[in-house]
Amino acid sequence: MLAHLDARFRDCAGDAWTRGAVARIAADFNRSADTHLIRLDLPCLKGVDLYLKDESTHPSGSLKHRLARSLFLYGLCNGWIREGRPVIEASSGSTAISEAYFARLIGVPFIAVAPAGTAPEKLRQIEFYGGRCHLVAPTALYDEAERLARELGGHYVDQFTYAERATDWRGNNNIAESIFAQMEEERFPLPSWVVVSAGTGGGASTIGRYIRYRTDLCGQTRLCVVDPENSVFYDVWNSGDRSLRIDRPSRIEGIGRPRCEPSFMPDVIDAMIKVPDAASLGAIRWLETVLGRKCGGSTGTNLIGAAALAAQMIEKGEEGSIVTLICDPGERYLQSYYDDRWIAERGFDLAPWIARLDAFAQRGCW
Ligand SMILES: *Cc1c(COP(=O)(O)O)cnc(C)c1O
Repeated sequence: MLAHLDARFRDCAGDAWTRGAVARIAADFNRSADTHLIRLDLPCLKGVDLYLKDESTHPSGSLKHRLARSLFLYGLCNGWIREGRPVIEASSGSTAISEAYFARLIGVPFIAVAPAGTAPEKLRQIEFYGGRCHLVAPTALYDEAERLARELGGHYVDQFTYAERATDWRGNNNIAESIFAQMEEERFPLPSWVVVSAGTGGGASTIGRYIRYRTDLCGQTRLCVVDPENSVFYDVWNSGDRSLRIDRPSRIEGIGRPRCEPSFMPDVIDAMIKVPDAASLGAIRWLETVLGRKCGGSTGTNLIGAAALAAQMIEKGEEGSIVTLICDPGERYLQSYYDDRWIAERGFDLAPWIARLDAFAQRGCW
């Protein structure tokens, strides 16, 4: 009791379990290396250098590893993730895989609320890290995640709302800080463009804010977001109308949304490019021939945007560098994007896009 004052004490900051969980995530981070920044070897492009930040090499296999780490630290430090209480997310993709990884690391149950019909391979990866999958109708996804969290006394992470604010955009090894530090010894160290795609929009928000925060980048580096078919982000950016909706899901996994997610921040984006799905899928086939590796579909979307901007720079006689991302590995998509029958059944014609990228690599034109 404090004399003459109403006061109540609830000692939660000193919670030993929370301290231990934060320390485990810090130790995991300390064991991990940063991801590589790969320079694409395209000798015919004289004045423009292309780089790929390889986010597929994180321990849980995609750029969502950074996001999941940030969301777990945010949840722990907010007092939302607690000992013995489940962590729940509405996702069937790379976010759920990375969150399952962190849930296992700190010893809490993890439940992914996923749409019925999600590829078994995806569910298997979530279960590999000890997560459980709860399948529901696609329209019930978010309500069901919220309900489960309420009934089980758990924490609904809600990546689409919190991606933008859970990431420490000024630093703490966010993707932007890492990219610009790794560019420092290149011949054009301040990129003309950074090209990313948007799922939550959190990655774009982090990079866009960081460019404005670093006054040496501001005015020098621009942010371009590429958007697949069946996504509202491009139209929202153009019209300013955040209420736009469509009813078909994106076919490029991890990116493109039927609604404008809260983490998408149009005001930090300098350009947007709408990329046909056939172009994205042609691009990953082409990329395999120069990189020797398979990448996920959104990496193809990124590459198309980067190549088109590079060709534009070459046409204008400009020199500089462009950075984009490898978001996740192609091995996750052997039964879809890398299966010729799957491609043909959906009527995709990849050949013209592969030819266009060949022409770009040989002559710098688009
Ligand atoms: C989430 C995701 C993206 C987009 O990243 P955001 O920062 O969430 O916008 C791109 N590719 C893949 C494979 C993803 O899972």
